[in-house]
Amino acid sequence: MISSTYDFIVIGCGLAGAVISREIAERSNKKVLIIEKRNHIGGNTYDFFDEEGILVHKYGPHIFHTNNKRVFDYLSRFTKWLDYDHEVVANVYGNLMPVPFNLNSLYVAFEKEEAKKLEEKLIKKYGLNSKLTIAQLREQTDIDLIKLSEYVYKNIFLYYTQKQWDITPLEIDPSVIARVPILISNDNRYFQDLYQGMPLEGYTKLFESLLDHPNIDVQLNVDAKKLFNIRENKIMFKDNDFNGKVIFTGAIDEFFSCKFGRLPYRTLDFLFETHDLEWFQTKGTVNYTVSEKYTRITEFKHLTGQKNKMKTTTVKEFPKAYTGADGETPYYAILNDENYLLYDKYKKLTEGLNNFYLLGRLAEYKYYNMDAIVLKALILADNII
Ligand code: UDP
Repeated sequence: MISSTYDFIVIGCGLAGAVISREIAERSNKKVLIIEKRNHIGGNTYDFFDEEGILVHKYGPHIFHTNNKRVFDYLSRFTKWLDYDHEVVANVYGNLMPVPFNLNSLYVAFEKEEAKKLEEKLIKKYGLNSKLTIAQLREQTDIDLIKLSEYVYKNIFLYYTQKQWDITPLEIDPSVIARVPILISNDNRYFQDLYQGMPLEGYTKLFESLLDHPNIDVQLNVDAKKLFNIRENKIMFKDNDFNGKVIFTGAIDEFFSCKFGRLPYRTLDFLFETHDLEWFQTKGTVNYTVSEKYTRITEFKHLTGQKNKMKTTTVKEFPKAYTGADGETPYYAILNDENYLLYDKYKKLTEGLNNFYLLGRLAEYKYYNMDAIVLKALILADNII
């Protein structure tokens, strides 16, 4: 039975919800109740063993990486790590080249002499080990570098972005495309962060450890919308005033019954396939940047380090518009001014409350990486405890 006697109620049991709950439970010694709509903890990082015994990520691949020592040290209290440097290759008409596009990619994309010339020009112009965005690469006057920038734009960014977002790289918020730079180096890793790896026993185990505290209770399969209401600048819990604090990590528009309209998101359909092979592909992820309807194929054993000589499971990602239909998950906020304005209208509905906090990808309508969410949760804990 859910009662209103908790000091804190946290809505959503993903990274934001679990980290803030642990911090409150530990640092203020207050009772926390987490309410989760899904039938499992872990949010979109949830992993489990599929029918063939392969550890898979239900909501698509999650690879942990951060430059933030506080975040890394914090999570390291709850998990050991598998050393894993994620590598991605783009399949460009059958040729596999590292992404981010780097000096090694040049030699797959172009004949040796041509690649060498481009390599020299890039190093001369930008310096070895530098990093630029595709927008910067396209600002060229040199004829060879113009040709290169057109190649990279067309073969790495254009079609992938159209599939993922249904708009071109020129129309998208620049921060989205800038997530994947061009590297003037031979570093084939997808992320260049100081710390990277995978929770040794998986994300679900990491969450079990995070939530394992006597001050934390978790209720699954409960929709917060049905319990909470905001009336006259007060939080109502089952029609009574709730005087504790609420940390909300869910979709803010849905909490208010989408009364101003739905916040736009992109969602994904996942196709999981198990193959009677030890390995399906040579790298963790292959991006299909010029062909196919799916954006990428990820093979989980590369990520998780799991050994199995007979079977391997992969997932294909098919992007589409989020409609709010049953079973769809809002994964990616679509960052533009119109959507920010709509988000602000919802946010304003919470601003008169002094005991209601918005935290995480959905509640803040942001494109956060996992480490950014953990950091936000730690900082919010610093502020409210
Ligand atoms: N992107 C691309 N080609 C690639 C990889 C990424 O065009 O091979 C673009 C695409 O628009 C994508 C964005 O860069 O949505 C960010 O990619 P990232 O891998 O960070 O996306 P996520 O893993 O968060 O889905």
